[in-house]
Amino acid sequence: MEGKLTEIFGINVFNDARMVECLPKKIYVKLKQTIENGDDLDIEVAEVVANAMKDWAIERGATHYTHWFQPMTGVTAEKHDSFISPTVDGKVIMEFSGKELIKGEPDASSFPSGGIRSTFEARGYTAWDCTSPAFLREDAAGVTLCIPTAFCSYTGEALDKKTPLLRSMEAINDQALRILKLFNHHDVTSVNVTVGAEQEYFLIDKEDYLKREDLMFTGRTLFGAMPPKGQEMDDHYFGHLRDRVAAFMKDLNEECWKMGILAKTQHNEAAPAQHEMAPVFSTVNIASDHNQLTMELMKRIANNHGLECLLHEKPFEGVNGSGKHNNWSLVTNTGKNLFDPGTTPHENIQFLLFFSAILKAVDEHAGLLRLSASNAGNDHRLGANEAPPAIISIFVGDQMEDVLLQLVETGEATRSKKTGKFSVGVHRIPEFYRDATDRNRTSPFAFTNNRYEFRMIGSSMSIADANTVLNTIVADALCDMANILEQADDFDLAVHDIIKKTVSDHYRIVFNGNGYSKEWEEEAARRGLPNYRSYIDSIPSLISKKSIKLFEKHCVFSKSELYSRAEVEYENYAKTINIEGRTMIQMFSRKYAPAVIRYTKELADSINSITKACPGIDVSVQEDLLTKVSNLLVQAQKAQNHLIDCIIEAEAISRETKEAKEAAERERRQAALSYKDEIDLKGLLGMTPFSYKLAQHFKDKVIPAMEDLRRPVDELELIVPKDMWPVPSYGDMLFEV
Ligand code: ADP
Ligand code: MG
Repeated sequence: MEGKLTEIFGINVFNDARMVECLPKKIYVKLKQTIENGDDLDIEVAEVVANAMKDWAIERGATHYTHWFQPMTGVTAEKHDSFISPTVDGKVIMEFSGKELIKGEPDASSFPSGGIRSTFEARGYTAWDCTSPAFLREDAAGVTLCIPTAFCSYTGEALDKKTPLLRSMEAINDQALRILKLFNHHDVTSVNVTVGAEQEYFLIDKEDYLKREDLMFTGRTLFGAMPPKGQEMDDHYFGHLRDRVAAFMKDLNEECWKMGILAKTQHNEAAPAQHEMAPVFSTVNIASDHNQLTMELMKRIANNHGLECLLHEKPFEGVNGSGKHNNWSLVTNTGKNLFDPGTTPHENIQFLLFFSAILKAVDEHAGLLRLSASNAGNDHRLGANEAPPAIISIFVGDQMEDVLLQLVETGEATRSKKTGKFSVGVHRIPEFYRDATDRNRTSPFAFTNNRYEFRMIGSSMSIADANTVLNTIVADALCDMANILEQADDFDLAVHDIIKKTVSDHYRIVFNGNGYSKEWEEEAARRGLPNYRSYIDSIPSLISKKSIKLFEKHCVFSKSELYSRAEVEYENYAKTINIEGRTMIQMFSRKYAPAVIRYTKELADSINSITKACPGIDVSVQEDLLTKVSNLLVQAQKAQNHLIDCIIEAEAISRETKEAKEAAERERRQAALSYKDEIDLKGLLGMTPFSYKLAQHFKDKVIPAMEDLRRPVDELELIVPKDMWPVPSYGDMLFEV
């Protein structure tokens, strides 16, 4: 490492210390007021900040700047501009204005919008998010100044994942402050959402990766037989890091630290070739930016080490998939964590109120949470006996379960279980206090000491959606509570009543047992908890009356934004499965089938030549093999033909969908033209998730057809000689690095 950790940390970030250094005091104070209190930002301030940022960036070797944003593709986007500006004498100077800092105008038409704009209304804006620091990226393109931004359409609708997240942070801040005021915390002026996102990933050899179209085009293996050994020995989890992986992690840490990312924990995960990285928590929008950057860095650094980093939720069938554990909490500007129970939580009324708000929020909006953590990849993981189940419930631990039960059963909580000392029974090993809550790896949403761990999010996803939902639903629960408490004559009585009632009403969401068990599925059904078996099933929760009311009330999404997002979800799903299906067809017809045919010829030749050389000799082994292999090949070919038919059917549905969209667009345009005065475009946007039918077809028809093709091919992989098999096996990929 070049230099000490403390010296390189944040070297590529225009952070607070740097701002103090580079900005005139007056400007710095004004900017801080915008960052911390949400005051409007004026252009003179932006002008000075832009200039200081540019000087700093150029000194560090930057030639370009970019507005860095997070469209609904789930990955980040950027368009680079150099700082150069021509002078009359044919030279250039380096310029960067306040206007360029605060506003960008990328063409929005090539990003998913879910029909929120027509293609002829291409204009979109990126707007500087000064609450997330600008940073320098060093890569083959040189050094680029990256400015985190929000991305909106010409008419002001959010086209990205960041804008709603920022709005939801304001919502929860407002509502939490109302509650804290009632508890006389007049010193608290803001409540921050803190998040630490643990990131799981796989590392495999780059050469293997390049030989597999499925990994290259879809991020997961669409074929592949399990090797004799999987993860059953539990010898990889927390195991010793092999050199190549350790070298990757060392570089990853260094690059993260330079970017101000608080890379903290690293270890091997449960599946072979699977690993995890966790940063120290930070404010949620920064945590979200940092997580996107971490994923980008992982990909790039793996490449430098001849490795490929797989971020897909389920790259390999038969071993664990990857998730992203989102640790979430609320902290005041005075440094108090609102979910810290203290040693006697039963007496901590403020904590109990916030705690019960979580029960209410999660119980009332389980569908939204489920959707916010779902994508096509995560469907292979959620509910598959390794990751959290698809049913949302909350693990609260023994101590809180006891307190809640007292409340439900007697209306009063009078005691808290003590945590007690922990001793291993060896004098030389010091004793310590055990945590108040045990771990429960099977729960999708677990209270862990002073925060909640939402464990469903897919490893490749942005954490923005899940946190937008979490912030908003908790804001709403707090809002309902504040509405009652602010009107109460006797606050102490009212707060007790509200806690009792909320806990009783929503106790069904609490589950401390084994979330992977069949019994839990049955029990959850008895309790009336929703069980959205797939991603597609959960999309309607975004546009239910309840959700529209919720998001509009807290100004996080408008109705049209919600509809557009539902459309994007359906589209993304359909596109993903379409690519997967087509990749399977290509791999089967161009790789697997020819390889198997070659083997059948070898067997036939062997039978022929042996019988010719020595008639009467027993060639039944070759004959059996030939029959078996040929039968499987026929079965696979039939399955492939069926898959092709299903995809052709999808094309027809896709054409219908496109026509329906165009008709709606024409109608809208017509309506817009017939208005004489300034029109409210927002009221005229498409309100139909057009791609529903298409997505459903992919789920119900294409996916089963893909499974039917995979089965015989995986069987063939175990029979055909390894040197004839056209792609690297699971064994090669999982145990090589
Ligand atoms: P585990 O594997 O036990 O869940 P890790 O150390 O891998 O633990 O991750 C825990 C994560 O929780 C870290 O990112 C940590 O910074 C984060 N975290 C700790 N306290 C808080 C908090 N108050 N708010 C949000 N995240 C937190
Ligand atoms: Mg964890």
